[in-house]
Amino acid sequence: MELLAETWTTSWFQATGYYLTRKQYASIMPQAIAVWCRQMGHEAYYKTWYGVGDPKSSLPSDLDVVFIAAYTQVSPLAYALARLYAKEKTFTVLGGPHAKSFPHDSLRFFDLVVTQCDKALIADILLGAFPKRTIVASDRMLTDIPTVEERLPEIKTSAFMRGKRPYLSTAVPLLSSVGCPYACNFCTDWNNPYALLPLELLEKDLAFLTKHYPGVMVSFHDPNFAVKFDQTLNVLDAQPEGPRHPYIMESSLSVLRGPRLQRLKDTRCVYVAPGIESWADYSNKAGVGRITGAEKLRRVTEHITELHEYVPGIQANLIFGLDSDAGDEPVELTKEFLTQTPFAWPVINIPVPFGGTPLYDDHLKNGRMLKGMPFAFYYAPYLVTTLKNYEPAVYYEKLIEICQHLSTRKMLIRRLRTTPNAGLRILHLVRTFAMRSRIRAYRQVHAMLTTDSQVRAYHEGRSDTLPEFYHREYEHMLGPYASLISRADRTPELVPSSAPPPAAKVKLAERV
Ligand code: SF4
Repeated sequence: MELLAETWTTSWFQATGYYLTRKQYASIMPQAIAVWCRQMGHEAYYKTWYGVGDPKSSLPSDLDVVFIAAYTQVSPLAYALARLYAKEKTFTVLGGPHAKSFPHDSLRFFDLVVTQCDKALIADILLGAFPKRTIVASDRMLTDIPTVEERLPEIKTSAFMRGKRPYLSTAVPLLSSVGCPYACNFCTDWNNPYALLPLELLEKDLAFLTKHYPGVMVSFHDPNFAVKFDQTLNVLDAQPEGPRHPYIMESSLSVLRGPRLQRLKDTRCVYVAPGIESWADYSNKAGVGRITGAEKLRRVTEHITELHEYVPGIQANLIFGLDSDAGDEPVELTKEFLTQTPFAWPVINIPVPFGGTPLYDDHLKNGRMLKGMPFAFYYAPYLVTTLKNYEPAVYYEKLIEICQHLSTRKMLIRRLRTTPNAGLRILHLVRTFAMRSRIRAYRQVHAMLTTDSQVRAYHEGRSDTLPEFYHREYEHMLGPYASLISRADRTPELVPSSAPPPAAKVKLAERV
């Protein structure tokens, strides 16, 4: 089971939104695990949970083993499910981004925690090769993932309407490469070497989709798509006759330049999400060398504007509050960027140090991780660290200022005017309304920081007592499962990335 939502939807409006968006976030590896289990002769069930209905009741009640995939924000729900399955003597295995980032903490709830997976490792797990309370990792590079044809039952479950046919939002997840040549200190792929997967796999998948689901949208889950640009795009170019599959991907600006842009258009790239991150850092992957500040803004704006002539949908990813940010300059530069590129939707992230990254180890060493902050809050609108150059209340004021700028009526009108594609215009509308509700959440935290001295002391790192607000939010998020996780359980075990597991062993795909 892959968890794609941190909480239950509370209205039909939200449920519809999740059906159109979250449902399509399903990852490839949980689907691969279901395929491998089936190929090994097991009876396998696969589900994704996107906030609708009871997650546990969507699977049979007599499972021998349950594999749960979760990212950090949804880990409390994964932990609660592990508690329920443990009562039924089901062997519990956690994988996915949270297992990779915080294996020690996950081991408090799961029998096995997998940080790196492949078919042979899954076979060993099913043979009972590892003792309980173990962190396991494959030391082999992943080269073999099931084809779309093999994953079709899982793709139908996760991405199709009623498990039968593609609908408006369907995006079939594909992978053409793993890892990344860059080493951004906040990214969990910072030390994962880039490798192209066998291109025959991509050829096969596209041929299958063209034959059975012509024109269906494809979503590349590569951390940094088409670093080997020509090799990858040659495969997309050589698709068989018929309507081309529109595709979505995430890539560095440094990869997307010159004549390559025309190739993106020719192969029907419809949405790209480049990471700009900051005006003061990470310039290399933005393709501007060491340039920062106003000159970086000028060059990136030009680049994004040119990119928009070839690719209709752009999402610009930025982080505000990094150590390199100080004063008003990043706010003003970001606002100027938003003004000049209204067609690009900006995602303004709060810095979150995930385990295993240099950013996390640095913050842990320097006492900048907020002690006791549950993992449920490791994402906007919450702040889980102390910032180097901003008091928490001031930080939220500046964040609100940026978000207000991007969601004004005037900006929305400019966005709609500069976006010719009808579907993308609807997306801009929905995201603008969602942003207004995000601003309300920022204001709520800001109000507490200015009126409640305990909240302020906690966020300034002067107190370790988690404010009641977070306990209430946590219980609200877990809904009927809240009683399964005690207040003590909510406190994450934060250890350096290199720390050995406490009472267990790390096994490199080796049987005991
Ligand atoms: S370029 Fe993207 S995928 Fe690569 S390390 Fe940086 S954030 Fe991660």
